[in-house]
Amino acid sequence: MATPRPILIVEDDAALRSTLVEQLAMDGDFAADEAESAGEAEAKLANANARYDAILLDIGLPDADGRDFCAKLRREGRQMPIIMLTGADAEADVVRGLDAGANDYIAKPFRLPELLARVRAQLRVFDNSEDAVFTIGPYLFRPSAKLLMEPARNRKIRLTDKEGAILKFLYRAGGKPVPRQILLNEVWGYNSAVTTHTLETHIYRLRQKIEPDPSQTRLLLTEAGGYKLDPVAGNPPT
Ligand code: CA
Repeated sequence: MATPRPILIVEDDAALRSTLVEQLAMDGDFAADEAESAGEAEAKLANANARYDAILLDIGLPDADGRDFCAKLRREGRQMPIIMLTGADAEADVVRGLDAGANDYIAKPFRLPELLARVRAQLRVFDNSEDAVFTIGPYLFRPSAKLLMEPARNRKIRLTDKEGAILKFLYRAGGKPVPRQILLNEVWGYNSAVTTHTLETHIYRLRQKIEPDPSQTRLLLTEAGGYKLDPVAGNPPT
């Protein structure tokens, strides 16, 4: 099972909101949370344990224009994909939404498969971008900077190229075990003469860096034939 990616739905139309929550949950790739106003969305985003990989944002909210709210989120430094749900298909509205920092828009009424395809496409782009930040246990992982940040303890852990690549690939696997040979090929390349012993050495060093107690691994787990990442292990209870 892949780890469902958390999506925040900001929409004041209760019927549409609950349909979206339900459909996203059924799809299995996403875990939806909901807010009926910009204020409620703001409160959820401000929660220290909050993690949203993308936001679906209605333009017409009771307490704000979704485009202004989007611009505000960008000013606060939030980088996740934001997809505007627009009732107005007037070109100017769409342009203003994109100017406000939205990644994409979809006009109501929309077909759910199309919305899901847009969300997936934006997540794919984001995951490969410089701005990507993933939550792994107590850490925020920035693959482009090869950096793990642990906000609770105000510390940073620097990773080597290979360590960063291993972590990124395991994260992408969404909690599924990855066989050693696949990890080797992905990180070192298909033509490399590197053996699984080298991989094991890197895994050992990575655990020394990231596991609170390396003798009792909770994040980077050994599975039959390979490894897997438990990205939610070690998170403080919410
Ligand atoms: Ca609305």
